[in-house]
Amino acid sequence: MKRSAMVEGVFPHPNMLNFKCQICGGAEDRPVVLIPIVGTQEGNLCEAEQIHVDCLLSGLIYYPSSGVIAVICRAGKVAE
Ligand SMILES: [Zn+2]
Repeated sequence: MKRSAMVEGVFPHPNMLNFKCQICGGAEDRPVVLIPIVGTQEGNLCEAEQIHVDCLLSGLIYYPSSGVIAVICRAGKVAE
């Protein structure tokens, strides 16, 4: 069986318009995922932030006592 690293929901390139990865702060053209932004859901729609996949995976940490998997965004807060 042939294996593939292609994963549904991973986009090979970011939408470069105003793109800034909220983890590394960079805007390099690397694969991204869309992360929903809390408090923006309306029905089946919500706002999302583009995040580099490699930044997301390398920063994940698991808190077993609370059942949370999180990542620290080194780039700081999103402008509000
Ligand atoms: Zn990044």
